[in-house]
Amino acid sequence: MKQYNVGIVGATGMVGQRFAILLENHPWFRVTALAASSRSKGKTYREAVGSRWAMPTPMPEKMADMVIYDATGDIDEIVKQVDFVFCAVDMPKDEIKKLEEAYAKKECPVVSNNSAHRFTPDVPMVIPEINADHIQVINDQRKRLGTKRGFVAVKSNCSLQSYVPAIHPLMDLGVTKVLCCTYQAISGAGKTFETWPEMVDNVIPYIGGEEEKSEKEPLKIWGKIENGEIKPASAPLFTAQCIRVPVSDGHTAAVYASFDKKIPMEEIIKRWETYKGRAQELELPSAPKQFLHYFTEDNRPQIKSERNLENGMAVSIGRLRPDSIFDIKFVCMSHNTLRGAAGGAVLLAELLCAENYI
Ligand code: NAP
Repeated sequence: MKQYNVGIVGATGMVGQRFAILLENHPWFRVTALAASSRSKGKTYREAVGSRWAMPTPMPEKMADMVIYDATGDIDEIVKQVDFVFCAVDMPKDEIKKLEEAYAKKECPVVSNNSAHRFTPDVPMVIPEINADHIQVINDQRKRLGTKRGFVAVKSNCSLQSYVPAIHPLMDLGVTKVLCCTYQAISGAGKTFETWPEMVDNVIPYIGGEEEKSEKEPLKIWGKIENGEIKPASAPLFTAQCIRVPVSDGHTAAVYASFDKKIPMEEIIKRWETYKGRAQELELPSAPKQFLHYFTEDNRPQIKSERNLENGMAVSIGRLRPDSIFDIKFVCMSHNTLRGAAGGAVLLAELLCAENYI
């Protein structure tokens, strides 16, 4: 496989740090540029991150002395050194949109963790096991941007990375409505217990904008390409409540679903256990061997025992049973900064390379 030079835009942040760890020994990707805000420009990665390093393993030695670029001011310099960039920045949405398109227009593909472009109709929002075919819309996006190589592709929000994978293998059984309550880790807000002590022994029943994303994004993922755009699916009906809980990493969801016909529980479990997507077919380096793991024990999946399953890229499901209002209910869980953020973006980049879009 070809080797690719990559940049991390937003390298000093929580997701950027995850990228650094995941790319340290990646078989295809080599980090050649790091960028953040103008506050970090000119500092080494070690100096710019300082006490903010929040990963369980040390900063990669080969990146620690790299000098940080200004993500907006140094675009020309950055694009000369990379084949594509990962982007995870904390900026106003309209500025992120402009920034990502600026890289794309300089013929530098952008694989983004940010939400800014998730509803741009010709930007694919991809979970490689579910809607890998959506990357074809990049051809239309390139026409709009006037580029040959450059484009923006995004991954979806971390909250839905457990329940959309669980519901997806059941979609052809006629899923009519879904209710989910998510219990989300503090790293999803870019925080640790040190930087957010109020979260110790606490639950906060509000995560700004999260419920809208949790209800709307699944429908784009299940949408179809029509006339150069992704037209969202019209079903199932979704309702979500998203709650912040005192967990470092790992989002859990309690899910209720109804179908337009009666489905045996064994059929649902069989579909989960045998499901494979494009990421498994292509044997992408970051793809879990088994995407969905079903646990029969009443007290699983648990954050501590399951979040790192298959390097944090697998989705864990348990407690499937009939419900008295909906048809079924179950609990599912995924690692929010691995599968739900940087790991999901690395997997998407692998898909884009394997399918010759990068
Ligand atoms: P974070 O820890 O606050 O890091 C923000 C990053 O953005 C830092 O590298 C920061 O650089 C950079 N930045 C801030 N202002 C900038 C500017 N004006 N120009 C260029 N760079 C700038 O945030 P995060 O948690 O990593 O999240 C980053 C993005 O990923 C957000 O859009 C978030 O919604 C998304 N996301 C996060 C998660 C998660 O689990 N945390 C999951 C999915 C998506 P400095 O260090 O120089 O300030």
